[in-house]
Amino acid sequence: MSGVNEIRSTFLDYFARNGHQVVDSSPLVPRNDPTLMFTNAGMVQFKNVFTGIEKRPYSRAVTSQKCVRAGGKHNDLDNVGYTARHHTFFEMLGNFSFGDYFKEDAIAFAWNLITREFELPVEKLLVTVYHEDDEAFDLWKRIAGLHDSRIIRIATSDNFWQMGDTGPCGPCSEIFYDHGAHIAGGPPGSPDADGDRFIEIWNLVFMQFEQMPGGERLRLPRPSIDTGMGLERISAVLQGTHDNYEIDLMRALTGAVEELTDVPADGSQKASHRIIADHLRAATFLVADGVLPSNEGRGYVLRRIMRRAMRHAQLLGARDPLMYRLVPVLVREMGRAYPEIVRAEQLVSETLRLEETRFRKTLERGLAILETESEGLGAGAKFSGETAFKLYDTFGFPLDLTEDALRARGVGVDVDAFNVAMERQRAEARASWSGSGEAATDAVWFSVREDAGASEFLGYDTEAAEGTV
Ligand code: ATP
Ligand code: MG
Ligand code: MG
Ligand code: MG
Repeated sequence: MSGVNEIRSTFLDYFARNGHQVVDSSPLVPRNDPTLMFTNAGMVQFKNVFTGIEKRPYSRAVTSQKCVRAGGKHNDLDNVGYTARHHTFFEMLGNFSFGDYFKEDAIAFAWNLITREFELPVEKLLVTVYHEDDEAFDLWKRIAGLHDSRIIRIATSDNFWQMGDTGPCGPCSEIFYDHGAHIAGGPPGSPDADGDRFIEIWNLVFMQFEQMPGGERLRLPRPSIDTGMGLERISAVLQGTHDNYEIDLMRALTGAVEELTDVPADGSQKASHRIIADHLRAATFLVADGVLPSNEGRGYVLRRIMRRAMRHAQLLGARDPLMYRLVPVLVREMGRAYPEIVRAEQLVSETLRLEETRFRKTLERGLAILETESEGLGAGAKFSGETAFKLYDTFGFPLDLTEDALRARGVGVDVDAFNVAMERQRAEARASWSGSGEAATDAVWFSVREDAGASEFLGYDTEAAEGTV
């Protein structure tokens, strides 16, 4: 059985043998792209290469890219711990062609890798194509020998990729693995496709058009390829499980949580182990890339991730700060592939220890209030937005932490009332701020602060600039 580290290397070596330059992962904070909160796909570092603004000395590349999807268009935070296939931090394996090879080779490379190198059984695989993409349909038939019924035409934007409102775009094809009838979920395109039975492992994007401002779509003279495969998902397949959290790397982390808390990682509280393991990775890699917990922007997303994990540590009965004690385990598992976490180990540990020490001071009292105020609320009920705001303002509970805490009972939060309370507080702050005396400067200060989102971060939400496979 191959471990995650070997699977990563197999992917990189395979494409290197096929003429691809191995390129390092770019940082989680995208360079030159203030509109994007975190790097969320392999193509992000190549955006300008695809549009032709930037030239590289190679026309084929392969990467294993660090990704965080905890904000913006792609936000998987609420899935973590509850689906088998989502993380906030994950690695995206990808091969890229910058006007070099196109659809036929991209499909052949992918099919050859998964069926010959990885030896996945063909009868477990199915693919989707964009409904108008007959070319891809025919190529899958010819190259993979797939029966028509295993090539599913999809008409939604899931199978049409766009860099923005204008610019490169094109159809995509996703490869799915069927983990078997014992797991709930239907095939792609069916009403219950959201289950964990058919899991998307690899997305191939065929950039063949340029979207013009007037609505016209031109054919690109030199079309390009962008692909993304979740390392944890392919590792799960290769390790005989449908569940990303059962792979060697994630087991090492949940096992360490079990050891420190004495609560079994496979028992009724397993969601907590998983959330802690996932958020530990996100937090460690974000700090290593220069993000520190704060009350706005990227730093607030990091703080939310950390605090959410800390509540789960508390649920597992941890009496003292726990997260920082897990850092050495993660560094042992991933430090060879990502030396930046070895270099940042001390900073990460210190940051986590401090944040957890501070948060624990208010966590228990906040949770007690949450308990009392939600007493008697049943499934479908709404928790007071005013109280959620008080928890936020006085006890440092991010809104999503409160939501997560009530989730098991099916209780939601009155988010509108929460926002009203937040807005009221902002207005009060504005009114009571004597300021610099320069009206114009003050106005700028407040609008910048609000754009950046002093609390819930909304500033980077522009779909147009969002990178994705
Ligand atoms: P899904 O539909 O399962 O949410 P996606 O279509 O949003 O996945 P893409 O944007 O196509 O994902 O990303 C390329 C690949 O990255 C996916 O095929 C999948 O293997 C992996 N991936 C995407 N999101 C996550 C995540 N949150 N955790 C782990 N792997 C992921
Ligand atoms: Mg998704
Ligand atoms: Mg998808
Ligand atoms: Mg996809």
